[in-house]
Amino acid sequence: MDKLAIKKRLEKLKSEIEKYRYAYHVLDKSLISDAALDSLKNELEKLERQFPDLITPDSPTQRVGGAPLAKFTKVRHAAPMMSLYDAFSPADMRDWEKRLLKISNFQFPISNFGYYCELKMDGLAVSLVYEKGEFVLGATRGDGEIGEDVTQNLKTIEAIPLVLRRPAQAELKKIGLNSEAIKRFYQIFDHDRLEARGEAIMPNKVFNELNQENEQQGKPKFANPRNAAAGSIRQLDSRLTARRRLDCYIYSLLAPFIKGGQGGFFNTHEQEHKLAKLLGFKVLDKNKFCKNLAEAVKFHDFWQARRHDLPFECDGIVVVVNDLSLWPKLGVVGKGPRYMMAYKFAAEQATTVIEDVIWQVGRTGVLTPTAHLKPVKIYGVTVSRATLHNLDEIRRLGLKIGDTVIIERAGDVIPKVVKVLPNLRAGGEKEIKAPKQCPICYGKVDKAEGEVAYKCLNKNCYAVNLRRLGHWTSKSALDIDGLGPKIIEQLYKQGLARDASDFYKLTAEDLLPLERFAEKSAENLIAAIAAKKEIELGRFLYGLGILHIGEESALMLAKQFQISNFQFPISKQIPNSKFQIPKIKKYFQGLTLDELQNIPDIGPVVAKSIYDWFHEQRNLELLRQLEKNGVTIVSQKSSAGWRIKSQKLEGKIFVLTGGLEQLTRDQAKAKIRELGGDVSSSVSQKTDYVVSGNEPGSKLEKARKLGVKIINEQEFLKMIS
Ligand SMILES: [Zn+2]
Repeated sequence: MDKLAIKKRLEKLKSEIEKYRYAYHVLDKSLISDAALDSLKNELEKLERQFPDLITPDSPTQRVGGAPLAKFTKVRHAAPMMSLYDAFSPADMRDWEKRLLKISNFQFPISNFGYYCELKMDGLAVSLVYEKGEFVLGATRGDGEIGEDVTQNLKTIEAIPLVLRRPAQAELKKIGLNSEAIKRFYQIFDHDRLEARGEAIMPNKVFNELNQENEQQGKPKFANPRNAAAGSIRQLDSRLTARRRLDCYIYSLLAPFIKGGQGGFFNTHEQEHKLAKLLGFKVLDKNKFCKNLAEAVKFHDFWQARRHDLPFECDGIVVVVNDLSLWPKLGVVGKGPRYMMAYKFAAEQATTVIEDVIWQVGRTGVLTPTAHLKPVKIYGVTVSRATLHNLDEIRRLGLKIGDTVIIERAGDVIPKVVKVLPNLRAGGEKEIKAPKQCPICYGKVDKAEGEVAYKCLNKNCYAVNLRRLGHWTSKSALDIDGLGPKIIEQLYKQGLARDASDFYKLTAEDLLPLERFAEKSAENLIAAIAAKKEIELGRFLYGLGILHIGEESALMLAKQFQISNFQFPISKQIPNSKFQIPKIKKYFQGLTLDELQNIPDIGPVVAKSIYDWFHEQRNLELLRQLEKNGVTIVSQKSSAGWRIKSQKLEGKIFVLTGGLEQLTRDQAKAKIRELGGDVSSSVSQKTDYVVSGNEPGSKLEKARKLGVKIINEQEFLKMIS
């Protein structure tokens, strides 16, 4: 190739790579595999190495490079980067709207105050300046007037384009620009400066991985993703920043032609976002126009409840007056503009005192430390217990009894201790020691090889047995009405129920001497137990309490059994089939570890656990007793399992990630199963579809890596309709 041909080839490679970057980061579409993309990048790099004079600053190879800086240079922002005022309640928001109306002298009816609502990401605010479409300067916010030049570091973030995309005329028309405006836009795009502002963030997944790595290497951990993002951008060596895999979303565009309606031709803030996307920036597609304040409050509440489903830290929403012509009228006051408000999510943390730490014994014998707290209200709920996971976690926190701590309650999750405040110690705090014996049966306690949890070694531990019985009768297993923990404990103490099979031998006479039983209630309970002699297979397998087998994997096992024991199409056979327990036992006993691992959703650890369970004498005896006492199994057909209505999705394995809008997760799962498909909790080569909902998690990335087909909610709904 002559040099001209090489130059042409380089140009083509660069624009092709940019096309894929845009599709992946901005449009959320993977057009090419990672391997193929790497191959293109390699070719580009190789050619550039041979012809270094042909390297241009906008080449994707130039994202990482350059010598470490001695210090950052200061940059004065073209227009100040302002802060926002905070609101914490709907009342605050109404007050804000009242002030807006007053300032505008009631010239505008409320209906004109449509709001653009954005999720407020917790990262580092950045400014990106482009000259004639080329990225020339990136800066931190600093004090709002003067920031630091971090261009080289921001270049390492793939979500930030090195060259802007030049939108087509039709695209600009579509977002509401008239022909006069479009002409001016091109004038500025081709000859002038354009500035984008947004948030550089560290996705939660990256944050967790980074902290894990730091822990393994004995380095200090980052307190939160925001600190980690800020620390990464303020690295003097950009190669370090590159390793931090940051992301960046844009929420504002500045140019001579967009200034709050002053001679600008943009009408709304929403258009700003749309143009940013057309220019090749990543914008958050969860952002939404709300036609009034009530809708904005709804948007806030919606995301407040789902904040932990988001792949990044988010501490509230930003409510922006959408009509740009109102901005100059509303103006700026002090540190921030009047036309925007940060409406924060409710606090999920509080401080309290650890009164005691109690070791609780679970169904598998694992001892879990639980903190008893001085009761405190978080998010409207009184909290008096927090989980401490294990002794390593206690050591990591440096926690003592009597300590004042920060606790956090995230969604429906059990509250946890996040930090100890050692400066508030009085001196009488007590060390928390490893348990020497089981708190219930006083049996020996030890740590299994390579595990962090302590376990009661007594095979007949009172607490473990009680938990097992409770597991058998729990809602997701047998769901026996009236068999709560208190009654189970009485039955156990009296020797009436030592394992699950004993429940089926009980008579009303057995129950009468127990507390709280009258003739009627005793008969009711016996009837309730008898009604559950016939058990759906999935519930049965879950109820056995095999280590690591949750509801999902129990259903997978059930389906595997049913498929193996019947011919296709299973839909015609399944609903009313009955099986005897020995048949089920024989089937699972006969599976090798490899065969178990071939079942969707079953990994090596779980496979080993199933294998062990079906090879332990004590468990086989339990199965014999259940059989002897008349327990029979029917095929899984409840809505929690699958009632196959058609073969539409037969054999297809789905993984759900992110929140769906039209269906709950459980509804979606039930739907898939009804149509003959399967749901797995993790993405693997066996997965056919990943359904990507609101703010999907790491499963999406994995799906992309493996080349698994990804569909959105709309496509999914179409598929199941
Ligand atoms: Zn014990």
